[in-house]
Amino acid sequence: MRRDLFDEEHLLFQETVREFMAREVVPHHERWEKDGIVPREVWKKAGEIGMFGFGVPEEYGGAGITDFRYNTVILEEIIRHGATGLGFSLHNDVMAPYVVELTDEEQKRRWLPGFVSGELITAIAMTEPGAGSDLQGVRATAVREGDHYVLNGQKTFITNGINADLVIVVAKTDPEAGARGVTLLAVERGMEGFGRGRNLDKIGMKAQDTAELFFDNVRVPVANRLGPAEGEGFFQLMRNLPQERLSIAVGAVAAAETVLEQTIAYCKSRQAFGRSIGSFQNTRFVLAELVTETDIARQYVDRCILALNAGELTAVDAAKAKWWTTELQTKVIDRCLQLHGGYGYMLEYPVAKAWVDSRVQTIYGGTTEIMKEIIGRSFGF
Ligand SMILES: Cc1cc2nc3c(=O)[nH]c(=O)nc-3n(C[C@H](O)[C@H](O)[C@H](O)COP(=O)(O)OP(=O)(O)OC[C@H]3O[C@@H](n4cnc5c(N)ncnc54)[C@H](O)[C@@H]3O)c2cc1C
Repeated sequence: MRRDLFDEEHLLFQETVREFMAREVVPHHERWEKDGIVPREVWKKAGEIGMFGFGVPEEYGGAGITDFRYNTVILEEIIRHGATGLGFSLHNDVMAPYVVELTDEEQKRRWLPGFVSGELITAIAMTEPGAGSDLQGVRATAVREGDHYVLNGQKTFITNGINADLVIVVAKTDPEAGARGVTLLAVERGMEGFGRGRNLDKIGMKAQDTAELFFDNVRVPVANRLGPAEGEGFFQLMRNLPQERLSIAVGAVAAAETVLEQTIAYCKSRQAFGRSIGSFQNTRFVLAELVTETDIARQYVDRCILALNAGELTAVDAAKAKWWTTELQTKVIDRCLQLHGGYGYMLEYPVAKAWVDSRVQTIYGGTTEIMKEIIGRSFGF
């Protein structure tokens, strides 16, 4: 089905991103997977061709264009090139609304130029060893002392956790006040008491740094709080999570499409019993089902992108997109791996890497079960 999401400018930008991926990323990604991290220079190079912070106003170095279709172009190219180590989508799709929309003038001047140039890498630290799905169970505390908050606690599974220069930390400023007692604080590289733990050893996305973070009496200036008042953090998170979930859904559909293309090509060339494996009815039926579901998912996700641009994407619709497309992605990739036979189990085949890389998609950004809770609650039972 013809895709009409993009205009000419998006397609031109897509060419630029493709060239960047072929030149600066693909030849090195395997090494980054062994290193467990992407070098910071790649971020700067991406910044030079305008890959970060489209929505940042021009006065702070951005393009001043709020259009999630540009984010979509970048993320799709990352996925199509198997470059799952790049934490760009966390920076662009998840963090941008925090640093662009929830910051005051002084914070914008401090952070946005680096955000756009790729010199200031960002992360968000919600999850703790004892609190993931249940955000209200966060135990990190921030106690006000004059012009500072004293931050204590531990976070885990933080994407860009090693590379990040600025981490938005979710902390309790009033542990008795429930949702109204949560505040977001920007912790910067070099602040005393801010430590990084292990770069965690994951089953997939090997080149992406996912880390533990520690906060031991970190004195965070009140000037680093997001929002004009304490206690707004939970609502700020709720406001931005739909965009994060849509971003994950965009990646899910792109990954399913990519693996399907690769698998169709494989099934044409692989022979068994004197004929191509694509000539077996089972192969054709499996692929027919997967392609149909992926095409339908594409339509829904593209519609969500336009809804987000129009300011109309609801938390419930984003939850639908997130759980359904990520479950589809893992199913598509698993069935495609099966069609590759033993070669599908070898990491030199893209389908094998896609299989391990994709497994987390139904977990982070809110699990499938939590997405269904969000949708189910909307019925008002
Ligand atoms: C690679 C990776 C990157 C990540 N990046 C970040 C990041 O950058 N920042 C960040 O803050 N976090 C990040 N996370 C954390 C991620 O968001 C959490 O792992 C996720 O929200 C689930 O939390 P949990 O791991 O504590 O699981 P739990 O909350 O302990 O859930 C365990 C199981 O119980 C189920 N469950 C929990 N509550 C319910 C319920 N009410 N009803 C039904 N089932 C339920 C879950 O669905 C799940 O199946 C990342 C995680 C990974 C693996």
